[in-house]
Amino acid sequence: MADCLFCKIAAGQIPATIVYQDDRLVAFKDLNPQAPMHVLVIPRRHVSSLNDLTAQDDALVGEMIRRAGLLAGEQGYGDRGYRTVFNCNADAGQTVFHVHLHVLGGRSLKWPPG
Ligand code: AMP
Ligand code: ZN
Repeated sequence: MADCLFCKIAAGQIPATIVYQDDRLVAFKDLNPQAPMHVLVIPRRHVSSLNDLTAQDDALVGEMIRRAGLLAGEQGYGDRGYRTVFNCNADAGQTVFHVHLHVLGGRSLKWPPG
């Protein structure tokens, strides 16, 4: 999508610290990290939010979640724990409308979220 920040990151048109990529996914460090590890896992294909996923995306979403776990494990947070979050629309505070999975680790995270 022409004007989408995360499409541009996936295409290499805007710099980001990429920690993983393959033909379907890209994972990069969040610009404003909320924990020692704060990575965003995105599909290369533009999907605006969780609301716009279809049954055809089930495998893709599975890959995103599995990759989040692998990346957290690589950083050493598998045993002590980490959090994965999809924010969807205004009440959840979604600010970038290209679906992304936050992966946060390295500090004790509160529940419920604010
Ligand atoms: P959300 O509020 O769930 O839509 O999350 C969007 C996230 O994207 C925020 O945590 C931002 O800090 C992050 N972000 C915004 N611009 C960039 C960028 N250019 N590179 C990396 N992360 C970004
Ligand atoms: Zn996009």
